[in-house]
Amino acid sequence: MRLIILGAPGVGKGTQAKKITAKFNIAHISTGDILRAEISNKTELGSKAQEFVSSGRLVPDDLIMAMIKDRFKSPDLEKGFLMDGFPRTIEQAEKFDEILDELNLKLDKVINIILDKNEIIKRITNRIVCNSCKKVFKLADFSDRELKCDSCNSVLSKRADDSEVVVVKRLEVYEIQTKPLIEYYSNKKLLADIDGLGTEEEIFERILNHL
Ligand code: ADP
Repeated sequence: MRLIILGAPGVGKGTQAKKITAKFNIAHISTGDILRAEISNKTELGSKAQEFVSSGRLVPDDLIMAMIKDRFKSPDLEKGFLMDGFPRTIEQAEKFDEILDELNLKLDKVINIILDKNEIIKRITNRIVCNSCKKVFKLADFSDRELKCDSCNSVLSKRADDSEVVVVKRLEVYEIQTKPLIEYYSNKKLLADIDGLGTEEEIFERILNHL
């Protein structure tokens, strides 16, 4: 199965992406996670990407496309994949179509999670992430507990770009640069709109109904 998950920052893409990829045993390709790892490992790509990520702007397409081409050389994509955070611009989507054509692969579905802006800001400013396995938690659930991951026991922290100012910028960038992808994939008859309000399980069920 070959999927893309679309939606504004904070709609729950990453959480649902983990559930989908675990269920279907396909690769989870999160460009945000790859970039954060490159930044924390201080690689050349990381140093080029850092200023864009920390200010909530998009990393230039040439860097992202090189990263994706590299990722698609790996043999673990045979069973399928789910793209999370990519494509994010029409140019990236067109170039991704070229890569898929070259590999003779077709997308099965583009899942588009929809959520109100106020709910998004509330969720992002309340979220903390495991530094190791990237599992997402709600800060409010930890008032009297240590910030430790219940899966791998690593430390939890706020993502550097989850401050309110940067979130507002990321939402603006989404509206201008990423939202046009909804029409792009709708024209290709691949889009599945999913209401993002509800429990993780309810949203997962809604997604499964389309797969
Ligand atoms: P979110 O969807 O919550 O904004 P991500 O983890 O997907 O978070 O991305 C974090 C940041 O990484 C983005 O704000 C952007 O700077 C950069 N980034 C991730 N994916 C891409 C992409 N496909 N193209 C350009 N920049 C990207």
